[in-house]
Amino acid sequence: MFTSLNRLSWADVAAMDRSRLAYVLPVGSTEQHGRHLPVGTDDLILQTSLDRLEQTLETRNTFLRLPALHYGNSFEHLDFPGTMTLRTTTMLAVAEDLLECMARHGVRYLVIVNSHGGNAPVFRSMAQEWEQRFGIKVFGIHYFGSDFFAGAQPLLQTPVNRDIHGGEIETGYLMHALPDVVQRDQISPERDVLVDLNDWYDGWLSRDLSPDNGLIGGASRATPEMGAQLYDYVQQKLAALFRTFDDQLDALRDA
Ligand SMILES: [Zn+2]
Repeated sequence: MFTSLNRLSWADVAAMDRSRLAYVLPVGSTEQHGRHLPVGTDDLILQTSLDRLEQTLETRNTFLRLPALHYGNSFEHLDFPGTMTLRTTTMLAVAEDLLECMARHGVRYLVIVNSHGGNAPVFRSMAQEWEQRFGIKVFGIHYFGSDFFAGAQPLLQTPVNRDIHGGEIETGYLMHALPDVVQRDQISPERDVLVDLNDWYDGWLSRDLSPDNGLIGGASRATPEMGAQLYDYVQQKLAALFRTFDDQLDALRDA
């Protein structure tokens, strides 16, 4: 079962077998995504994909989707208005407050589903410490900052590693899932920004790489048709990862 915690009563939660229960924390961001996409892009992609997954995914164990954290670590985009960032320390404080509630109620597994690249290192660096401190095993799904979209390369004209922010992937997805939020008149090939982000460039800012626009990627190559395929790709990828976690919970219980 994959459903929302918000729809359940405390008694429903109390009755659940802890060895078959994982909480799911969605984490997005509120930050600039170029001139053509809304600041809620990461959050909208996250929520639309999880809404769909909630309707379709069958699991043996219970996965309870928590209310999302709609802000992330977005200092790289702070030069653009509308960007709202939390400090890393604030994010960790919020996450640890939630982990403390989980531990109090005997919940032992957490899946973090994160749609913003800047959040990935924050959570990844904490997972092992959290397991030792709270007794909660953390699994992570990171839409960016991992190979999540690598398998979608055949659908895309832009190399995935250059489609970093507001590019072909995010534009195409939203053209399909929420076409009203995409300002197509703001998209053109001249406005695409294709850069190779070096592995050593920890301190990159979007104002340096894309001062006029904020986008880093190939937005002009996005089409609603590709977006529909990408939407399906995201569903299949998420479902496969949750099936892996389903197996993992079974294996940990049997160990
Ligand atoms: Zn994004």
